[in-house]
Amino acid sequence: MTLRTAAPLLFATLLAACQPANDSPDKARNVILFVGDGMGVATVTAARIFDGQSRGMSGEEHVLPFETFPNVALVKTYNTNQQTPDSAGAITAMLTGTKTRAGVINVGPEALRKSCEGQLAHPLTPITEIAGQAGKAIGVVTTTRVTHATPAGMFARTAERDWEDDSDVDPTDWQLGCHDIAYQLVHAGNGPQIVMGGGSQHFFGADRLGKRRQADADLVRDWLGAGARRRYVASAEQLEDLQPGEEVLGLFASEHMSFVAERKPDSTEPTLTQMATTAVRLLEESEAGYFLLVEGGRIDHAHHDARPGWAMLETQEFANAVAAVMEMIDTRETLVLVTADHSHVFTLGGYATRGNPVLGHVVKNDDRGLPMDKPDLAADGQPYTVLSYANGPGFVRELPRPEPETGVHALAQSLVPVFYENDDGTHEYSETHGGEDVALYAIGPGSEAARGVIEQNRIYDIMMMALGLAEN
Ligand SMILES: [Zn+2]
Repeated sequence: MTLRTAAPLLFATLLAACQPANDSPDKARNVILFVGDGMGVATVTAARIFDGQSRGMSGEEHVLPFETFPNVALVKTYNTNQQTPDSAGAITAMLTGTKTRAGVINVGPEALRKSCEGQLAHPLTPITEIAGQAGKAIGVVTTTRVTHATPAGMFARTAERDWEDDSDVDPTDWQLGCHDIAYQLVHAGNGPQIVMGGGSQHFFGADRLGKRRQADADLVRDWLGAGARRRYVASAEQLEDLQPGEEVLGLFASEHMSFVAERKPDSTEPTLTQMATTAVRLLEESEAGYFLLVEGGRIDHAHHDARPGWAMLETQEFANAVAAVMEMIDTRETLVLVTADHSHVFTLGGYATRGNPVLGHVVKNDDRGLPMDKPDLAADGQPYTVLSYANGPGFVRELPRPEPETGVHALAQSLVPVFYENDDGTHEYSETHGGEDVALYAIGPGSEAARGVIEQNRIYDIMMMALGLAEN
């Protein structure tokens, strides 16, 4: 605990008053952007209740760490060609200031998805490049593969978010210069100094159980060889040894990192909180400040799987990471933003009584306003859950509707069996993103610009202005 976080309010106020004039309090030295992938407003409300109930409270009155931030905006998330966005277009809006098509990363809306020519003709410049040129250290931590859409926005430019390794890229496009996302992380130059998450399969060839075209490909070896003081880590334990000034590539899983709900007791994977606090510990030593993205990436995946309990655990861990980071930083010099890239077709309701277990069946109040002693029954004679989806893999396959599952591992019921088709022609049921606005919570220098209903690409402007990097 540093002096500045322990300082009582009066002392902090006196200190602020003594700041030299050129240390303008409206400029941020650092920016931390927390993205809860798919963390729509209903997810925040449900997670607030879930986290409160897991602490023995009724839940509704609970407050998540970022809900105390003084500035809040609603964010319009649509992509230029899609009413309901995807993460690639959304992170591009946030990091480049330009809305674009779904599926592309740091490429302008003029380019078509999967068009290498379009990618080369219409590059966008993410804030990480500008901040990096201004001397800021750059960090990205995520619970997904580090080559997944949201983290890739920090270092890659691609007309197709699924080009995660070279086996995904047409060799002709590769020759033209449309390299895969993992390759760009290692070879595009000036990549982030701190990278942590999953996805090691995209860095290796078959010799090391990876997916790259060359059996002996080893991008980790290449990355280590391209700079001094570089450390590769693959387990939580190794995070402790990392020293300020070291650049870090941490790949803790072949695929995405484990869901919190599926974490083994002997897991060697760090939690999102461990990764985020390690990144902040190292980045706080950067002389010129830093820009850090922390993504709770599997909130989204839990929702796609229609497992609200899993989504609650992921959101709870995301909130824990925010709380732990807030203990380490000074909001007089660090702009902290917490937002989502998009929502999901997820909601809560049904006139549940106060303190109704949020992962349970709805228990209503009686006509005196007192809780009934058993779940309410719908017109089909079955109970229904507090949390539900408009579509997804838990669609009701046959009538009469079975009793819906409850608890952490429940598959939530829905109406519409939407699915997507894999490359091999097989189908996978998946709940979809939601198109309504998401929230932006902000504290620190420049955070007062986070108000009203804003376009998602305005988040870029808020961060650039706060860092003093905007042109006007
Ligand atoms: Zn998604």
